[in-house]
Amino acid sequence: MAAIDGLPPLREVIATHELVAKKALGQNFLLDLNLTAKIARAAGDLTGCDVLEVGPGPGGLTRGLLAEGARRVLAVEKDSRCLPALAEIAAHYPGRLEVINGDALAVDVASHLTPPIRIAANLPYNVGTELLIRWLTPAVWPPFWQSLTLMFQKEVAERIVAKPGSDHYGRLALLAQWRAEAKIVMVLPPEAFTPAPKVHSAVVHLTALPAPRYPADPAVLERVVAAGFNQRRKMLRSSLKGVHPRIEALLEEAGIPPTERAERVNLEQFCHLARLVAAG
Ligand code: SAM
Repeated sequence: MAAIDGLPPLREVIATHELVAKKALGQNFLLDLNLTAKIARAAGDLTGCDVLEVGPGPGGLTRGLLAEGARRVLAVEKDSRCLPALAEIAAHYPGRLEVINGDALAVDVASHLTPPIRIAANLPYNVGTELLIRWLTPAVWPPFWQSLTLMFQKEVAERIVAKPGSDHYGRLALLAQWRAEAKIVMVLPPEAFTPAPKVHSAVVHLTALPAPRYPADPAVLERVVAAGFNQRRKMLRSSLKGVHPRIEALLEEAGIPPTERAERVNLEQFCHLARLVAAG
């Protein structure tokens, strides 16, 4: 029986194209089209938007994004075995799906997209984290995207939305919340995926702010935050020693006790410190 969009059910697609999941590519597929439509809706109003999807696999989320009205979807998939299944979706939605066979970490997507642009993906978590950092740290803000709707391991999602003082608070929380509004919009049990991973997953929705919450040079802020959390149980005056020769005085000027630990310092204080470090 055909699915709601008139295309074959995903189990059939996987069987037809022999898409046995590959662990090395982090393949845990979503086969429930109601669920992929729900994730597509969590990405916001897609009408009139180009959507960049990374890692479409057999195309469950791709179908959700197209059915929810995306103007165009640009899908970047590393596994060439998925291309015939994606070509069937492209034929069903003429002119609305472009597929690039490549590594999302290497492909330059910007020239294929027209604003407004949203990004949606269910990716292996290591690729997802690396892309998230890249999308959050361009030299110029606002970025090319309006929102990111990304699946992560639940523990990683918690690190993105964490507040100071929590065990999950660190580099990801600071970089995400500096330039975006970040929230967890869905939690999924392992059984939602085929094959089922060991852990729960969560969808995080990030909306780009028109300007960062506090001024700071992204490269300097990243350096300060990375050094601070590299040895998160250490006092900042020692973990940040390599960042600036007068770090103790700069910490005091930023209103941060030099004996404080990174996990208790908020975004405003980190940005203030990054500005003082940048000033030399
Ligand atoms: N989006 C599909 C879904 O929800 O069912 C597939 C999700 S699966 C977790 C991750 C997908 O990302 C796989 O199709 C995998 O081949 C692809 N992938 C892994 N690494 C990638 C990379 N560096 N660039 C592009 N795609 C990648």
